[in-house]
Amino acid sequence: MIVMKFGGTSVEDARAMTTVIEIVERERHRKPVVVLSAIAGATNMLLDAARLSVEGKLDEATRLLNELLERHVLILENLITHRTTIQELILEIRRRFDELKNLCQGIAILGELTNRSLDAIASVGERLSTLIVARGMEERGLPAELVDARSFMMTDEQYANAAPQMPFIETKARELLLPLINTGKIVITQGFIGSTRKGITTTLGRGGSDYSAAIIGAVLDAEEIQIWTDVDGVLTGDPRIVPSAKKLKVISFREASELAYFGAKVLHPSTILPAVKKNIPVIVLNSRRPAASGTRIVSDPPKSNAAVKSIASKKGITVINIQSTRMLMAYGFLESIFSVFSRHKTPVDLVSTSEVAVSLTIDNTSRLEEILQELESFAEVSVFRNKAIVCIVGEQMHSTVGIADRIFHALGDINVMMISQGASEINMSLVVDETDVVEAVRRLHKEFFEPVPELEIFESIGTNSSD
Ligand code: ADP
Ligand code: ASP
Ligand code: MG
Repeated sequence: MIVMKFGGTSVEDARAMTTVIEIVERERHRKPVVVLSAIAGATNMLLDAARLSVEGKLDEATRLLNELLERHVLILENLITHRTTIQELILEIRRRFDELKNLCQGIAILGELTNRSLDAIASVGERLSTLIVARGMEERGLPAELVDARSFMMTDEQYANAAPQMPFIETKARELLLPLINTGKIVITQGFIGSTRKGITTTLGRGGSDYSAAIIGAVLDAEEIQIWTDVDGVLTGDPRIVPSAKKLKVISFREASELAYFGAKVLHPSTILPAVKKNIPVIVLNSRRPAASGTRIVSDPPKSNAAVKSIASKKGITVINIQSTRMLMAYGFLESIFSVFSRHKTPVDLVSTSEVAVSLTIDNTSRLEEILQELESFAEVSVFRNKAIVCIVGEQMHSTVGIADRIFHALGDINVMMISQGASEINMSLVVDETDVVEAVRRLHKEFFEPVPELEIFESIGTNSSD
């Protein structure tokens, strides 16, 4: 069996959904499990409605919800032909929006918005898109079976960023999904959403549908996990920054992980992990150009001479410099620094050390004040906000002479605040001002990918593949 995940733009309207149904139908012999995101923009609109409600702007929230309701109605009217099915679905969708409005009213009255409520509200997006696509498939004579992801995607109670509980998911998913798959059903389920063991709705974090797909693929031992999106595959750079980006035909799990972690939105950062554990290839494909070959992410891609494969970037980074003369010749200093971050559950991304100073970066600043207070009790601390990480990735980077030279030459007058060579030995990360990040990525892209270095690995992208 295979897992086929379609992102928001792949289900954004009736035409896109029709394409999804056709793509799935073509793969029917491979026993697909279909994982869907909410229609493009729906999650943002739902979360905005919740936030407006807590600010007491219930009218604006209602307007937003009505707009989203209308979009869903328009989609199903254009996708489905049977009048009675349309009526039935409209009633069902209206009922769900009535529930949403009640929830928003409650939030406005209480003046309190928890992550738990946000998850309940956000989950409606995926629950609606799957409902509509499943009905569309049935109408076209396909044996679609809609399974609520909350019946098997068990998570902890960390709302808005819940961690999947793999052993439970494995048992539940196999028990519920395998009999359906084995009797020829096409299972359709939601990405992004899950449930605590007590049955309360959770989400896996923004962009989490990719992660859902990988988890489902891993627990069901899929032969392949397909991630269908709106670009031709994993590209040499973010196409919104470098329109001339090329597609990578194949990359390693390690390269894909680094890229995802350092900002390549095409994959949720956790996606690769479940696939690696079971060595299942992940293929990134373009639902707007289904015939294109996509990018294969595998454990052991063919060796290539291209040292650099792709460049990712991530804004919203805060750099913390920690200095202390006590550090000189002392042991335990780094431990005392990292224990502060660990106590405050704040991941550190990049680290660079000298004899008397440590620089590190974080992107979650929710506990910054507390962290600084503790650090200042034993060191001199300075904080630099609005920074960005630029991450240059490639398995062969470290065995290729002169890469650092080319990087700094290409960057020219752009100020680099910090450098970190990833411990994984396949990346090099730089910290620059947020205002310089676009130019930095463009210059580096030009240096390494224009002209295209190696045709066996890189390929031009389709004309209608990015927005
Ligand atoms: P989906 O809704 O299908 O999950 P996303 O918007 O989450 O799609 O991710 C796809 C987008 O990721 C692309 O449209 C592209 O703009 C962006 N992106 C950023 N970096 C890369 C990259 N290196 N390769 C491909 N796409 C990238
Ligand atoms: N719909 C969710 C989001 O927008 C999950 C996803 O699309 O992957 O974050
Ligand atoms: Mg995504």
